[in-house]
Amino acid sequence: MSSNVLSGTRVLVAAAVLLLAACAGPDSSLGGATSASTPPIASTTIPATVPATVPATVPATVPATVPITVPITVPAAAAPATSVVLAEGALAVFDFAATQLAVGTSIEGRPITADRYGTPGGRRVLVIGVIHGDEDAGVAIIDELRERDVPDGVELWVIESMNPDGQAAQNRQNANQVDLNRNFPHKWGVIGEPGNSQYAGTGPASEPETQAMVNLITQLRPDIAVWYHQDANLIIPSTGRDGRIRARYAELTALPLADCCGGGGVYTGIAASWAKNELQKDSDAVAFIVELPGGVLSTQQVNAHANAVLTIGIEG
Ligand SMILES: [Zn+2]
Repeated sequence: MSSNVLSGTRVLVAAAVLLLAACAGPDSSLGGATSASTPPIASTTIPATVPATVPATVPATVPATVPITVPITVPAAAAPATSVVLAEGALAVFDFAATQLAVGTSIEGRPITADRYGTPGGRRVLVIGVIHGDEDAGVAIIDELRERDVPDGVELWVIESMNPDGQAAQNRQNANQVDLNRNFPHKWGVIGEPGNSQYAGTGPASEPETQAMVNLITQLRPDIAVWYHQDANLIIPSTGRDGRIRARYAELTALPLADCCGGGGVYTGIAASWAKNELQKDSDAVAFIVELPGGVLSTQQVNAHANAVLTIGIEG
């Protein structure tokens, strides 16, 4: 390889690293409407070891004769079997053949983990037990789902909590006092300051927990995604397939279909709204909130919700 080619390779690799670093920032790839069409980091073929191989002294300028067709690919053998972090601050690329994914890490270092059950390649159903840390009745439903025989044709993914710090502290918000269900990068809006119960963070997807979930869902692209909350005891109606599946879930769990909360809340940066908007770019995917009743669910209620998840997974 000539020195020019080698130099060009180094420049292009360095440029790729810089691009990755830029994409990893909380306010760039996850930050707003204009970035919505950016391909997920998953699509890159840059090897995970790129940072370690970048020379310390990268030429500041690219000679005019440098070829621009140097491929940046990674041999298949170098790809790990499970998720891998590309570089510090970058987001995981997932292999959905794995039965467990390290989705991300909370501010206080707690893992956010997704587990797969059922039929690989079946209808992907994603269930998130906790987003508001003090609304954790959904954990019992997740635990029940883990014990079930998932029907053929359903690929079930469960996440006990996308807000493990808030769950541990029994706080609605994450450890930055951000309401994660106001932090997603769809119709994000400024809300309050730390201490405000609906504080939306410093920007769209400013929080690591939000970034981790955006990264997962953008790659996983579930057909149905459900987030559990408490304690409004209802499901908000919708239209189309989304509305039909919400109604079916409500019927199966005896939850009313009703508008929520008297209109007193501010509803920007909602996780399910972001997911629906993202997933419906290439499918008729469904994403919605199930507002469980307050307190601890009865065994009968837990079973009804687990049944409802699996039933909508079968029926679609
Ligand atoms: Zn909630």
